[in-house]
Amino acid sequence: MKAVQYREVGTAPEVVEIPVPRPGPGEVLLKVTAAGVCHSDIAVMSWPAEQVPFPLPLTLGHEGAGVVAEVGEGVDTVRLGDAVVVYGPWGCGTCVKCAQGKENYCLRAEELKILPPGLGAPGAMAEYMIVDSPRHLIPLGGLDPVRTVPLTDAGLTPYHAIKRSMPKLVPGSTSVVIGAGGLGHVGIQLLRAMTGTRVIALDVSEEKLALAREVGAHEALISDDEAVGRIRELTGGRGADAVFDFVGVPPTTAIAQQCAGVESDVTIVGIGGGSVEVGFGTTAYETVVTAPYWGSRSELVEVYDLARGGDITVHVETYTLEEAPKAYERLHANEVRGRAVIVP
Ligand code: NAD
Ligand code: ZN
Ligand code: ZN
Repeated sequence: MKAVQYREVGTAPEVVEIPVPRPGPGEVLLKVTAAGVCHSDIAVMSWPAEQVPFPLPLTLGHEGAGVVAEVGEGVDTVRLGDAVVVYGPWGCGTCVKCAQGKENYCLRAEELKILPPGLGAPGAMAEYMIVDSPRHLIPLGGLDPVRTVPLTDAGLTPYHAIKRSMPKLVPGSTSVVIGAGGLGHVGIQLLRAMTGTRVIALDVSEEKLALAREVGAHEALISDDEAVGRIRELTGGRGADAVFDFVGVPPTTAIAQQCAGVESDVTIVGIGGGSVEVGFGTTAYETVVTAPYWGSRSELVEVYDLARGGDITVHVETYTLEEAPKAYERLHANEVRGRAVIVP
């Protein structure tokens, strides 16, 4: 079968021929119907060899959807032909965090060397993929896999971040979304669907600001030195009640710190090395700063339930497996509008 692999540190992904895997006991083989392209892959592929926590070559793709093609011994909770999506942050299933459905914070993943598909285990950018347990599959329930596969990460990650801040996102509140890309353009829609907050989007690209407006941002501003002043103005001096930084580079975390109001939440989702220092006088009083990772299994079910209600439209650009390297190039050049999705 064809697969898109990161083969050697410092090189671009390649399309290769590899054998179709067979499911072992407890595992499920999916015929992949869609795989999303996330900016985290680009970050991972820029790490030096000593920082890469998995062996290469690696089949990419941590946003995956498929149809059950074969089940391993003992699997009886999914059936051949079931249309599903993959919960990506795999855990052990039995530690206290996993028992709460928070496999993204599994306490034993490192010890047991459990890694997400596409970020250690073979991922979804192939004709077939292995899922380690049916526990990590969620029914699509009639949704289109191509248009919704990004919800497994670009939906789930903002959903988790927003859910944490819900008590602050009451009518009259203001949220700032920094980065209207794959995660950000879904995050804006989730904020509109789930809360009464006013949404101000920031980005460096006019095209992304247009997308932000199209998906529901009340205001969309260029992310520069003047943005903080504009946000202060728009909030009557109060500042934002929640800031979601989907870029996470030093210039954006600096904006997040400066535009956050008293008793606000600052959530750093982007992995660009930026940080917000917390101490008396560095942030507004009682600002809570956090950096979450992905979301829980139950939250993924909630995201798909929400999408089934029709409130969330992921903007997708589709590519074949052979075109995947081009999709990564376009993402790297900041040319993708919404999310790139590979359709094998
Ligand atoms: P993307 O490339 O689709 O979107 C990034 C957006 O940020 C683009 O619209 C771009 O124009 C904008 N941008 C770039 N620099 C900016 C700046 N200085 N100010 C304002 N906007 C700027 O990326 P994505 O796939 O949405 O991922 C976003 C970030 O989130 C990445 O760092 C990714 O690695 C990270 N991520 C984190 C988690 C997590 O669990 N914490 C999960 C998924 C992705
Ligand atoms: Zn991702
Ligand atoms: Zn666990």
